[in-house]
Amino acid sequence: MHPSYLRQFHASQIFHAIRTSPGVSQKELIDLTGCDKSTISVIIKRFEEIGLVERITGTSAGKRGRPSEMLRISEMSGLLMGVHLEFECLRFVAANLDGQPFSSKDAPLPQAPEDLADNVRAGIVELCAEIGRDLSEIRAIGIALPGLVGQTGGLAQSSNLSWSKVAVPELLRSKLGAPVYVDNDTNAATLAEFLFGECSQLSDFIMLDGGRGIGGGVFIDGRLYRGKNGFAGELGHIKVVKDGRQCGCGSSGCLSAYLSAPAMIARVRRTTEVQTLADILALAASGDSDVLLVLEESGEFLGTALASLINIFNPPAIVLGGVLADMWPYISARTARVIEREAMQAPREQTEILVSKISNAKVPWGGVALALEGFSSLDPAESMPW
Ligand SMILES: [Zn+2]
Repeated sequence: MHPSYLRQFHASQIFHAIRTSPGVSQKELIDLTGCDKSTISVIIKRFEEIGLVERITGTSAGKRGRPSEMLRISEMSGLLMGVHLEFECLRFVAANLDGQPFSSKDAPLPQAPEDLADNVRAGIVELCAEIGRDLSEIRAIGIALPGLVGQTGGLAQSSNLSWSKVAVPELLRSKLGAPVYVDNDTNAATLAEFLFGECSQLSDFIMLDGGRGIGGGVFIDGRLYRGKNGFAGELGHIKVVKDGRQCGCGSSGCLSAYLSAPAMIARVRRTTEVQTLADILALAASGDSDVLLVLEESGEFLGTALASLINIFNPPAIVLGGVLADMWPYISARTARVIEREAMQAPREQTEILVSKISNAKVPWGGVALALEGFSSLDPAESMPW
């Protein structure tokens, strides 16, 4: 291993340890990272020089004794920006370098991809003005796109936006003045689960995230699995019904054609008038038998998809986000029974089904996760903050 890569690796490890354990002492970092004392002290010194980390004096939570010096990511060390292209709008999210979002803003989505760069720049400028921070403080920008995103960050296809073959990084990089990291929105949400959510201690897990469609993320050996050109993980298109409902992908019988929010609304509407998924959940909570029947059936479909994923990947965890997390209380029992029936016993017993706590937050975390991952990247071609 090249010494500069090793140093970068240790710096990244130490940065994330301080980020996830604010108030940690230099001594505790030895146990948290496995790095030796002198490596830690050299890297912390460098972090202090560039204003990334600051020392505070206090007593660690739950500990008695003399106050000691504790480390945390400096609040003024820089900004991360998340940008989400959603169905209805552009969403901008600002976070400090610890990755915790603290402010957000929505703007209209441009009709034409050519206008994207100017609109994204304008939104970032406005958000920075609102929070009283300077554009030059932005260390990285993460862009989450709804559709298939290739290895180089280009949007290959998006049925939500009706855009195809848009070279997003090229459009944005010259306009934004900070490194830009682009990925599919569910990959971004999967990364957010690893960096901030339920799967922060796991190097392998699967994410299924439900919204207008159902997206998936496959996290293997501490990184997203992307396949040949970045399109891997379209787990919402696992077939759960032979010759079933038509799906937005052009095929039929996909999980997404049954459990996405629009699919749920369409299926419930066969018997009951509803406008939103919230209507469905409210009716379920009141014990509406027609709605509960549709949810039971949904649990069956989800169980079939999860059983396949368990058999294929033997993941320690599958995390459910978005509408799947919302519906989970009503579908979990049926889903569990189907998994019991359809997944092989040995991998089944090793897989935990988790419900995401951040996927339904008011502000999406994925864009910031992409920015944070890029900022602390081990790729020597990218800018190295340390
Ligand atoms: Zn499909």
